[in-house]
Amino acid sequence: MISFSYLEPADIDEALAALARYGEEAKVLAGGTGLVNLLKQRLVQPTYLIGLRRLAGLKKLSYDGTLRIGALCTQRTLETSALVQDHVPLLAETCRQVATVRIRTMATLGGALAHADPNQDPPPALIVLDARVRVRSPQQEREVSVDAFFTGYYETILAPDELITEVIIPPLPAGSGTAFVKFLPQTHDDYATVAVATRITLDGDRIAEARVALGAAAATPLRATAVEDALRSQVPTPTVLREAAALVADAVDPTADFRGSVAYKRDMAVVFVQRALAQATARAQAGGGTA
Ligand SMILES: Cc1cc2nc3c(=O)[nH]c(=O)nc-3n(C[C@H](O)[C@H](O)[C@H](O)COP(=O)(O)OP(=O)(O)OC[C@H]3O[C@@H](n4cnc5c(N)ncnc54)[C@H](O)[C@@H]3O)c2cc1C
Repeated sequence: MISFSYLEPADIDEALAALARYGEEAKVLAGGTGLVNLLKQRLVQPTYLIGLRRLAGLKKLSYDGTLRIGALCTQRTLETSALVQDHVPLLAETCRQVATVRIRTMATLGGALAHADPNQDPPPALIVLDARVRVRSPQQEREVSVDAFFTGYYETILAPDELITEVIIPPLPAGSGTAFVKFLPQTHDDYATVAVATRITLDGDRIAEARVALGAAAATPLRATAVEDALRSQVPTPTVLREAAALVADAVDPTADFRGSVAYKRDMAVVFVQRALAQATARAQAGGGTA
């Protein structure tokens, strides 16, 4: 491990001032589950590490029709919160499937976005929920959709002096059902071979709107717009869902590794998109959510 100076600001303004002062020489530390590994492997070598744990303002979770999640909320908090289970069950369902309780107890939602490992689970769920990320620098505050947040492998739109402060999830349209399915043939603390989040919004017996996003399927979390387009205005019969799911084969760009070859991962993407679509459709038909 390299040596660095550790700072622990007392509030957001102090943290932003430190980021502005040290720029690319600094890294912020949230749960540490991703960054500490990168430090150990010397893939990042900051001179300053800015610990966020005293920033109580980034640990808030509130709901007023819109769910507002402070960047430091842990995945365990999101998995177990009654507020999240009741109003955005997809997020609780997704966080429940992230690694182990030990990791979920440390890993934060802000970290899951800023880390930008394409194998992570929360980003596809946030994409199908049309979530937005609130980001602050000393000069400005801006909001970006999660869909537009990732720019490349471990890369995002974040500037070196910016901090993620909040994730905002708008209310789902009436008639929506959601699902998150993860193909995890190895151990629980491994990453998915493929993970799929879906939302189906019905208007009567037809699909008014669909969202489909995948993890572990490309260099960034991937939104499968070809599948979404094929579903719009259709009656969601098993054939329609199967034919739409098949279109994801051309959208994914997976990497071969010990979890499977490119061809295998492409096939699994089709299978798991079909399963996720069927689950979300059944939930929409049953009255919504993920119950
Ligand atoms: C063995 C293991 C298995 C795992 N399996 C999975 C899995 O299957 N699915 C899954 O989704 N995740 C999994 N994870 C967790 C995931 O890979 C990341 O480690 C985690 O999401 C990072 O969150 P963190 O809060 O620990 O971030 P940190 O490690 O503290 O930080 C990660 C990066 O984000 C930056 N950062 C953190 N917070 C902010 C912020 N508020 N604003 C700006 N930048 C910020 C840091 O500077 C750093 O660059 C696993 C982790 C481990 C160790």
